[in-house]
Amino acid sequence: MNLTELGIKDLRELLNNKEVSATELTNAFIRNIEESSKLNAFIEKTFDKALMQAAEADRIIGTESQRSLCGIPLGIKDLFCCKDVKTQAASAILENFIPPYESTVTQKIWNEQAIMLGKLNMDEFAMGSSNETSTYGSAINPWRSSASDDFLTPGGSSGGSSAAVAANLCAGATGTDTGGSIRQPASFTGTVGLKPTYGRCSRWGIIAFASSFDQAGPITKNVTDNAILLKAMSGFDPLDSTSAKIEVPDYEKELGKNIKGLRVGLAKEYSLQKGDSEAKKKLEQIISLLETMGAEIFEVSLPHTEFALPTYYVLAPAEASSNLARYDGVRYGHRANLDKNDTIKDLYEKTRSEGFGTEVKRRILIGTYVLSSGYYDAYYKRAQKVRNLIKNDFDKVFKKVDLILTPTTPTSAFPLGSKGTQDPVEMYMNDIFTVPANLAGLPALSLPVGLDELGLPLGVQLIGNNWQEPLILNTAFNLEDALGFGSSPKNWWA
Ligand code: GLN
Repeated sequence: MNLTELGIKDLRELLNNKEVSATELTNAFIRNIEESSKLNAFIEKTFDKALMQAAEADRIIGTESQRSLCGIPLGIKDLFCCKDVKTQAASAILENFIPPYESTVTQKIWNEQAIMLGKLNMDEFAMGSSNETSTYGSAINPWRSSASDDFLTPGGSSGGSSAAVAANLCAGATGTDTGGSIRQPASFTGTVGLKPTYGRCSRWGIIAFASSFDQAGPITKNVTDNAILLKAMSGFDPLDSTSAKIEVPDYEKELGKNIKGLRVGLAKEYSLQKGDSEAKKKLEQIISLLETMGAEIFEVSLPHTEFALPTYYVLAPAEASSNLARYDGVRYGHRANLDKNDTIKDLYEKTRSEGFGTEVKRRILIGTYVLSSGYYDAYYKRAQKVRNLIKNDFDKVFKKVDLILTPTTPTSAFPLGSKGTQDPVEMYMNDIFTVPANLAGLPALSLPVGLDELGLPLGVQLIGNNWQEPLILNTAFNLEDALGFGSSPKNWWA
């Protein structure tokens, strides 16, 4: 087996037994990245830094100073500011921006002695579901349909992260999830993606999209790796007042417990359209599997689910329009060339017109509109109220069940260019099952459970109550163990 096909836990063992050095391992991933430029997953490579970190890891392994990710090569979504490394949120407006600071989450990962291979492609400012809004062009899904050679989306916005993990370009990756951007890409690429409880990971140094929704989380090859990486990323941070002062459990230790007596809810509002599709069959298979494991299944109702998407598309753009006001051509990145008589207003206008892509502009316009004095009550305030109703739905259901099981996405990965070109709402519909957890701040994970009739990965979502990451991960672990997803894409790109 090729080294790079292994995940974090297995690599940790090889490194500890000195069967491989961190330097050899890093070189193996570097080779894969160099050979996989077709996938467009890495948009900034930090190989010199990686090899320096690897040499340091090789000195540390086996000593008392060794930490949990020592020598493990990772990829970082371009939304995380990394000191002295070009960070653009895949936007032209942040052209050549080099942060003088490190995000808290990435700093925590380096403190655990992981190795940084580079920055990963994503939708511009994390706005999108297909990675197509990136100024670098889309990352490409390593999976292909058995019915055509079309390039498929790796999902969005963390499409570079999901593609890189699925194609063995890194052992694991960071993602962020505002409305589904970790779970949907994970589902499209056969990887495991977890959006933690709001406040679990610090948002400091992560370029803001919609601050009351944004959460960082891990995308990995398997559940155990997810638990390991989540632990490294989590914890209170005095620099983010919304980060929670709640102890970080040892998630890995929670894995393997039996789930007898677990109460699992199936929400009747989260149904798949197509009659007897493979996706539907898989979900039914998971339900009976859970029953064999001793879980009890209940039908539950989240009656305000149908309002989740419209609520999200009022609130998220509102917050985005305010967060993105800082890109004015003065402080960071791109600045338009001015004519002699241009004013400061021209500077703002030209810079923002040139720097932002279409989808980002659309969000700024929607956001500014719903926050404007005449419409604030009708849209923004109302959406806030509906957000509360959605949260209340979940609170009620979590009195009856421990977890909610849903599909992660309505379909498997779709061809690039096939959605949302005429009507952006078609693209927004992708997040119909993932957005509610963000509105309510709840933790949720996508687990690969099999392939559909086109040979493409399918995911299911487990949503838990606040701080129930250990229960979610353990349930996913039990399912993974029983299912043995184990599929990987055929390499056509190298
Ligand atoms: N696809 C959703 C959007 O475009 C969610 C994105 C995300 O989670 N960052 O807003």
